[in-house]
Amino acid sequence: MSAAALPVGKRSACVIGAGFGGLALAIRLQAGGVQTTLVEGRDKPGGRAYFWEKDGFTFDAGPTVITDPPCLEELWALTGHRMADDIELMPVMPFYRLNWPDSVQFDYSNDDAAMNAEIARIEPGDVAGYRDFLHYSAGVYEEGYVKLGHKPFLDFTSMIKAAPALAKYQAWRSVYSIVSKYIQSEKLREAFSFHTLLVGGNPMTTSSIYALIHKLEKDGGVWWAKGGTNRLVAALVTQFERIGGQVRLGDPVSRIASLGDRITGVETASGWSGSFDAVASNADIVHSYRDLLADNPRGRRMGKSLRKKRFSPGLFVVHFGVEGTWPGIPHHMILFGPRYKGLLDDIYEHGVLPQDFSIYLHHPTVTDPSMAPDGMSTFYALVPVANQGKLPIDWDQVGPVLEQRILDEVGRRLIPDIHSRIVTKFHYAPADFSRDLNAYLGSAFSLEPILTQSAWFRGHNRDDVIPNLYLVGAGTHPGAGIPGVVGSAKATAGLMLEDLK
Ligand SMILES: Cc1cc2nc3c(=O)[nH]c(=O)nc-3n(C[C@H](O)[C@H](O)[C@H](O)COP(=O)(O)OP(=O)(O)OC[C@H]3O[C@@H](n4cnc5c(N)ncnc54)[C@H](O)[C@@H]3O)c2cc1C
Repeated sequence: MSAAALPVGKRSACVIGAGFGGLALAIRLQAGGVQTTLVEGRDKPGGRAYFWEKDGFTFDAGPTVITDPPCLEELWALTGHRMADDIELMPVMPFYRLNWPDSVQFDYSNDDAAMNAEIARIEPGDVAGYRDFLHYSAGVYEEGYVKLGHKPFLDFTSMIKAAPALAKYQAWRSVYSIVSKYIQSEKLREAFSFHTLLVGGNPMTTSSIYALIHKLEKDGGVWWAKGGTNRLVAALVTQFERIGGQVRLGDPVSRIASLGDRITGVETASGWSGSFDAVASNADIVHSYRDLLADNPRGRRMGKSLRKKRFSPGLFVVHFGVEGTWPGIPHHMILFGPRYKGLLDDIYEHGVLPQDFSIYLHHPTVTDPSMAPDGMSTFYALVPVANQGKLPIDWDQVGPVLEQRILDEVGRRLIPDIHSRIVTKFHYAPADFSRDLNAYLGSAFSLEPILTQSAWFRGHNRDDVIPNLYLVGAGTHPGAGIPGVVGSAKATAGLMLEDLK
């Protein structure tokens, strides 16, 4: 179908923020006949999925593990287009290599025989337990993702309807606790519970519903967007503009204008303003209410109540480009530190910067050499750190020290002469998330995904008081991660398209 043939109606909407959630919502609205304007504060779209080009290297800022491609393909299929025409997804195998300080390794994939062999190498008795865990994971995936992952939870009744499933899967237990029911080896417990960290959750306290990530990856695989996640973002923009959507970059919204209990439009830092029938914010949820809606009592009230909630940790990411290629280092590695629960307690509860850390190492050039100049490699090493509410330190001072320690550890475990090979490097800290993304407390994933902040207890896709104000992204149901925020866009779009009929 050509753009001209799309039946765009008289209704208009503004989406604030071009993260994955904002982009997915904007496409759904435009495809549904609502003239949509996407307003982004930064010079490039993507939000957490921003990117930098330095000295010939491409550094993706955020998401690197692409899961559930069909949730993205839908955004093209809505208008009869094909995602594959705009972006190539490449399979990644193994999904992750896990590595412990005693040099034990575990290659994590969705190949049953390989997984059983990997488990048996560490603890033969856990092969049967893994089968049972997989069965559990498949059940919560069906209930929590397939059935409810893109449904808005607008009232408490919707929560009550979900209660039998929550009870059946003992959703009050943590992912680590459920994994421990099936699996005895501590290393394997870590291997099957660390995934909640990818959406900001502590495996020790995040609801066991999040064990669904295992099944999500098993069925859908782990993928890489050729050229980087930034190319996937660019492809989403292409699709949006192709069907008539308008993008305004580098102009942060300064105010969501309202009259009584209706939103009338938005104003931006440059002085531009627009009137819209509906406004949806993909910006940080605290920023959206507290700052953008500051002159409406609803904004002030919500801003205050949201600040009492628990926010996920920050991330400290060291980006570096090195001379040489490293075919032996897989695309995704977790370098576990000596502690698991103790380290998580330090990050989530005590708010200290520990001496030890676990590192997620991203090595895109092993899949896609186009991310670096010939004969060179691109990496990022990421460690979770307490958010700025728990750990109010000066990152300008601490950052360089932590960067050095992280590079030393990658050198000690994988690249012995790392310092002499580095061509370019820089880091990104919680203070940068606050400054660049308006992220409350520098949190990398918005509200922490605990049971009492999930579904109806999370940000609602439509505001309870202002009927033409909507939210989308990590602070809303179902939560962070690309499949999560793309699911939230589906939930929000469903409401908006119905309301704007
Ligand atoms: C380092 C890192 C690694 C990650 N890895 C993965 C991964 O491998 N796989 C995965 O699935 N997920 C991953 N995640 C999580 C995932 O990236 C996020 O949950 C998701 O991208 C958030 O999308 P969002 O729609 O909530 O919007 P965001 O990405 O938060 O974007 C919000 C946008 O709003 C804009 N904005 C803010 N204020 C204003 C304003 N006033 N006016 C206009 N615009 C404004 C911001 O500039 C931003 O562009 C990772 C996250 C991080 C930080």
